[in-house]
Amino acid sequence: MNSAPRLVILGRDGILNVYREDHVKEPHEWRTVPGALEAVARLNQDGWHVVVATNQAGIGRGMFDMASLNAVHAQMMKLLAAQGGRVDAVFFCPHAPEEHCDCRKPQPGMMHDIARRYGVDLRRVPMVGDTLRDLQAAQAAGCEPHLVLTGRAARLDEVQLARIVELVPDTRIHADLGAFADDLLHRAHPDAPDSGPGGLA
Ligand SMILES: [Zn+2]
Repeated sequence: MNSAPRLVILGRDGILNVYREDHVKEPHEWRTVPGALEAVARLNQDGWHVVVATNQAGIGRGMFDMASLNAVHAQMMKLLAAQGGRVDAVFFCPHAPEEHCDCRKPQPGMMHDIARRYGVDLRRVPMVGDTLRDLQAAQAAGCEPHLVLTGRAARLDEVQLARIVELVPDTRIHADLGAFADDLLHRAHPDAPDSGPGGLA
């Protein structure tokens, strides 16, 4: 038996909640990506621990504060609980890009923190994002890179997607978090009847 928990790392904006150019600053600005919270619940039910790693430069830019961020995450947890799901922890980078920290994705600092906290080998950890920056963070940390075509990735054309796969060759592409969950659960249980692999890759 492998005692290390089965872990999935998710970006937040564009993956769980609809991306907003001006940041989700208050709970009422949260809009769930359709099917995303159910996908987390399905992963939980199969024994996967779900952790969020999110860049929140709006803090560093003074657009919202920690209390607001905590309120947004309390709202996220409440909506998730209503679907029978949970996120174990939210890791976030509060820095603006010009602060050049080592936690803002594409830097792998948050993933290294997660690996330390959970005692996992990141090579076995799927990491889901909606930007090249997320995939590069996954690559730098040694995680398995997954792109969902929600959030910022929704506006990428075929050429841009091909370019991303060129830059981060192991990227798997999925329509959304539900399709990612289908794919992961199918790989974990290849003989179980389900809706089949949801990915495009
Ligand atoms: Zn940071």
